[in-house]
Amino acid sequence: MPTGFYAEPNVFLTDQLLLNFQRCHRQAFLEVHGDAAARGQVNDFLLKLGEDKRRFQQDLLKDQTVARPSYPHHDWEAGAAATIDLMRQGVPVICNGVLLSHQPQRTQSQGPSQIFKTESVAYVSTPDLLMRRPGVSVWGDWRYVPVDIKLSKRPKLEYQILGAFHAQVLAEVQGGAVEEPWLYLREKGWYTIDLERVLPQMEELRAALLTMLLQKAEPEVFIARNRCGMCVWFDACYAIAQAEQHLSLLPGVTPTRYPVLKAYNLASVELLAQSDPSTLHAKTGLGHDVTRKLVSQSQAFVHQRPVFLTEALHSGILMSLPTTPIELYFDIEAEPSLNLVYLHGVLVVDRVRNEQEFFPCLAKAPADEEQAWWALVDLLSRYPDAPIFHFCAYEVQTVARLAQQYGAPHRFVESLQPRFFDLHAWVTRTAALPIESYTLKLIARWLGFEWRNAAANGAQAICWYSEWLETQNPQFLEDIVLYNEDDCLATYHVKDWLTQFLAEQVERHLPPIAAGF
Ligand code: SF4
Repeated sequence: MPTGFYAEPNVFLTDQLLLNFQRCHRQAFLEVHGDAAARGQVNDFLLKLGEDKRRFQQDLLKDQTVARPSYPHHDWEAGAAATIDLMRQGVPVICNGVLLSHQPQRTQSQGPSQIFKTESVAYVSTPDLLMRRPGVSVWGDWRYVPVDIKLSKRPKLEYQILGAFHAQVLAEVQGGAVEEPWLYLREKGWYTIDLERVLPQMEELRAALLTMLLQKAEPEVFIARNRCGMCVWFDACYAIAQAEQHLSLLPGVTPTRYPVLKAYNLASVELLAQSDPSTLHAKTGLGHDVTRKLVSQSQAFVHQRPVFLTEALHSGILMSLPTTPIELYFDIEAEPSLNLVYLHGVLVVDRVRNEQEFFPCLAKAPADEEQAWWALVDLLSRYPDAPIFHFCAYEVQTVARLAQQYGAPHRFVESLQPRFFDLHAWVTRTAALPIESYTLKLIARWLGFEWRNAAANGAQAICWYSEWLETQNPQFLEDIVLYNEDDCLATYHVKDWLTQFLAEQVERHLPPIAAGF
């Protein structure tokens, strides 16, 4: 029998929470139960994406008459009432409407003292558009279908799940069957979501989210750089991960590998560092390459020094990282939303004269992309024998694409491929470093290199270029060029360190004849 009974405020399960939950359970939890003071600012890049989406939406609707419900920010009840008012009138297109569906009250026991709590739950859906169609609803011979407008090029499953959520809440609001929702995508245009396939997945996720929120079951921190970097809770989560020395800080420990390691009581860097890779493979079923890399990576962390990956000795790559009188260091800046490559930065290093010179091939306007490309072709052609060092595959892929798009002398294109050296691939195939991620920034900083503008990064450069186009303030371009030059210098720094490190390792591990003596 219950010994206590009290009502809680409503739980609003919003579409935004459902999206957060799909990306990171913990993020959805913190949005509801986290300490608001620990929530950071939304960064400039995400604000820019929001602005890009708003413009894309405006373009789509420029010839339409749309109605928008007016209500105080986050007052879902008022928003839902204003939206129903517009739907009842049969307005053709409603932008930023609110759909609200109150769910039956939920009672559950809490804690050892058997206090019973009753929670009142409401689902809140905010589709970008509600479009009127012929059909039947509680208001007459019309109904609405939900549409989400996305900058994405493809219909990601997480967006389809949201569409299914909108559709189900809308069916409860307007009466009648659940109608198939739509996405409007940047390149593909209209996309109909297959409800039969997606609805069961949405219901499962929604139930899991609701259980987590009602039970206040806080998910464990797991730092995954690709998703955490832009998150407003990053500082708070990272502080916890560091205090706990959480295994997710170790490169190679992915969300799927972590539970496997945990199940075998290996969720600590020290234990992994003491493991034998073959035994680890036999125990956990993780691949040989994975266990070798995990053990080396843990040892690099524990001893705070680089660990040579001896398997590189058998790959045949150790002899071929060149040092030549002239070397080029290359880095590109692009604006993905404009499909634009606006800067090719090249640092020319003359080792004989001990001189360096930086050349930015810059498109000051989107229409100048081709001109910047030809400036790069001209520059690279001046040093036909120089190796070109870069970090990650993007530079090589982009050069191949631009050569196709704008053309280039046939012999020039053919001669480029063997001149490219991807230092990211070289570092990760030969060394485990005591760093949390193999980005240029973390590797170069570990080596003592510092960017002149500490706030600069790739996402920030995209924002700066956008502001340059809008304001024509040259400071934004100067900031971008400085950042790009520092990326090239950092690549140069990494290359010099790696050359020396590999020379030492070759001497230590190979017999004298094989080492070139
Ligand atoms: S920082 Fe990472 S773990 Fe923390 S809430 Fe954000 S995405 Fe989740």
